[in-house]
Amino acid sequence: MRVKTKCPNCTDVFIVEVPDDAEEYTVSCPRCEKIFNIRPPSDIATSFMIEMKNVTKIYRSGETKVYGLRDVNLSVKKGEFIVVVGPSGCGKSTLLNLIGGIDVLTEGRIIVDGEDLSKLKDKELTSFRRYKVGFVFQFFNLISTLTAVENVELSLKLRNVKRTREEAIRYLEIVGISKLGDRFPSELSGGEQQRVAIARALAKKPSILLADEPTGNLDTKSSEKVAYTLYNSAKNMGTTTILVTHDLGITKFAERIVTLRDGRIVDDRKI
Ligand code: ADP
Ligand code: MG
Repeated sequence: MRVKTKCPNCTDVFIVEVPDDAEEYTVSCPRCEKIFNIRPPSDIATSFMIEMKNVTKIYRSGETKVYGLRDVNLSVKKGEFIVVVGPSGCGKSTLLNLIGGIDVLTEGRIIVDGEDLSKLKDKELTSFRRYKVGFVFQFFNLISTLTAVENVELSLKLRNVKRTREEAIRYLEIVGISKLGDRFPSELSGGEQQRVAIARALAKKPSILLADEPTGNLDTKSSEKVAYTLYNSAKNMGTTTILVTHDLGITKFAERIVTLRDGRIVDDRKI
């Protein structure tokens, strides 16, 4: 198991290979040579891009408690594309919002790209969302006063890319709509708008891509096309992706399907 650890002396962060069953392991800091012990389960393992450990989310409205998730364990490898399905209200959005740092868990731990989300301060959580997470939502959320290309350019500016227009067109090519780059969202079909949103999310080069019912507002034909575009482009770019949907019809390409019911994972299978 690869464990990311921080030297208590010089605060250098480095990765060490530790036997899987080790409870305590002695390491030497490569920078200051300080020798210290680490406890792997409580340090951060980096073999997965996403790790949820015994995650429970309780919403409270007055005296009543509503469970969003109950004791969820889920690990997603780097570059993996998983589909999460289940009926309305089973906790799909809760799962994505916790992983994406939009919401905060009640119990457990979530580690994304080596960051333990519960340990991040507000400011760190904001930059985690800004730089590491790409979101695709049901209602596209494009900026209506900007063209398709300009919407994608926003993500590129965030990464200080220089020739943003050319790069944005390249991302629109990946999702198959580079010819429509100068149109405003209102001049595009729903499916086309969602492809712009996918290009915009990928242009951030995020560690993880989270898509919450991205086809929920589309007809059957565009749904299949958009879901497949999402799958294909994420796979090509090696972006770890979670696609959440209640529509099993769009999951033909799925390699791994996780099923939620009443806030619990009831099935997790490789296809
Ligand atoms: P899904 O996305 O699968 O439809 P959600 O994650 O939105 O499900 O919701 C899971 C459960 O948590 C539901 O019972 C829902 O009513 C509840 N829930 C979600 N968000 C809130 C909230 N902000 N306040 C109270 N209850 C919530
Ligand atoms: Mg939802």
